[in-house]
Amino acid sequence: MIRPMFRPMTDSLSELRDELREIEDLSSIDQLMEWDQQTQMPEGGAVARGRQMALIGKLVHQRRTSTRLGDLLGSLRSVQDEDSADGALVRRATRDFMRARRLPTDFVTELKEHTAASYVAWTKAKPNNDFASIAPVLEKTVELSRRLAGFFPDQDHVADPLIDEHDPGMTVASIQSVFSGLRKELVPLANAIFDKQGPRRDFLSRSFPIPKQYAFNREVIEALGYDFSRGRIDEAAHPFMIRFAAGDIRITTRAQEHDPTDSLYSTIHEAGHALYEQNIAAALDGTPLGHGTSTGVHESQSRLWENRVGRSRAFWDRFFPRFQETFPEALKDVDAEAMYRAINTVERSLIRVDADEVTYNLHVMLRFDLELQLLTGELKVRDLPEAWNARMKSDLGVVPETDTVGVLQDIHWYCTTVGGTFQGYALGNIMSAQFYDAALKSSETIERDVARGDFTQLRGWLVENVYQHGGRYLPDALIQNATGAPLTHAPFMRYLETKFGELYDL
Ligand code: ZN
Repeated sequence: MIRPMFRPMTDSLSELRDELREIEDLSSIDQLMEWDQQTQMPEGGAVARGRQMALIGKLVHQRRTSTRLGDLLGSLRSVQDEDSADGALVRRATRDFMRARRLPTDFVTELKEHTAASYVAWTKAKPNNDFASIAPVLEKTVELSRRLAGFFPDQDHVADPLIDEHDPGMTVASIQSVFSGLRKELVPLANAIFDKQGPRRDFLSRSFPIPKQYAFNREVIEALGYDFSRGRIDEAAHPFMIRFAAGDIRITTRAQEHDPTDSLYSTIHEAGHALYEQNIAAALDGTPLGHGTSTGVHESQSRLWENRVGRSRAFWDRFFPRFQETFPEALKDVDAEAMYRAINTVERSLIRVDADEVTYNLHVMLRFDLELQLLTGELKVRDLPEAWNARMKSDLGVVPETDTVGVLQDIHWYCTTVGGTFQGYALGNIMSAQFYDAALKSSETIERDVARGDFTQLRGWLVENVYQHGGRYLPDALIQNATGAPLTHAPFMRYLETKFGELYDL
């Protein structure tokens, strides 16, 4: 049969959808192997699993860069400009295709091999407080990150292409303008709190049997809206959320007997990511739009549920009676208010992942600024620990005694490129406050319900304005549409000042 020269647009669109679904399905197989690797797989499976995942990764890359996909997208060029779901799909698929095509396969392999070796080196350097051993490895990572950025010539800053991968449409300039305003207000707030006496926290290190923690956490996230008929929760060393399809969005958790907050808040955090994914419109499933739109927006949802909801007085008013019933011995001399105060302690801390809401973004902005300096060459890798410690002293008033709890603490620079990931953590907090304020403003009853510990309406607003759209809008447009304003740090600062001003009597 001779192929007609002209194919109607609808045929090309449905062919594109079929092609994209197969790519998504292949990626889901890769994800499933990763989930299994982190939750179930015996140690003996590691070598074969590495090989299997590399094979699927290669197949996915071939499909993502195929001439057939390029031809399909080419024939749909006119759809790209449409202000419709199809237009958004073709735009996103074209963007992904162009990005993937720009990277030579040899380079992708070199980067992958290097970052895998770097991760292994980091697992040894960190416990041994041995930055010197990993410095040459990190130098190479910086060089590879610069080369990666170099494949994208339209850039104002060398980090822009790296950021664009995770937070599409955002740049160093747009992020710095938000971060610099935030830092200026955040450092004095943190300092004012550091001078005050913290609340009582002794009861949090009593015994909280782990199976009971898991049962309680399950009850909490079910009440917040996590749908167990389309998900499940398993144990893993590093908690994460993973999507295989619209009907299968899983989370993982871990627990410590003498700190129930670790498991509770990481479970709510991952459930927040999952709430986003579980509520993306079904029609977008199996396409590149069937995922959250960016790292920053994703993190805005995990942090909204973890902090804005989970660390609120309303949350503890509602859940403390059940918490106390679950752990009567540990909580015999504690009430909801004491719990609320204890889990909102602000302190000079060394470790980002354990930091409170006030100091967390200072940790993130420190990393963001340093990685920009590494990428531009302003800062040499050998001078990094010193620069790290100086910034810790000026922003957090504390200097790590070892690199283990300093520059070696986070995995990111040692398992992927330098640049592109840290900004998302702070952007998430900033966005979460902006979304939350917009939700409260949308109707008086939301605020009343939230104060009573009923989060159904809040979730409804998020589904309507954020979740259902998946990747249809880039972050800037999504924020503007949902909140009526561009990204700003003001709602986040107002939230911190009000909450912690009351808690610390400022
Ligand atoms: Zn997260």
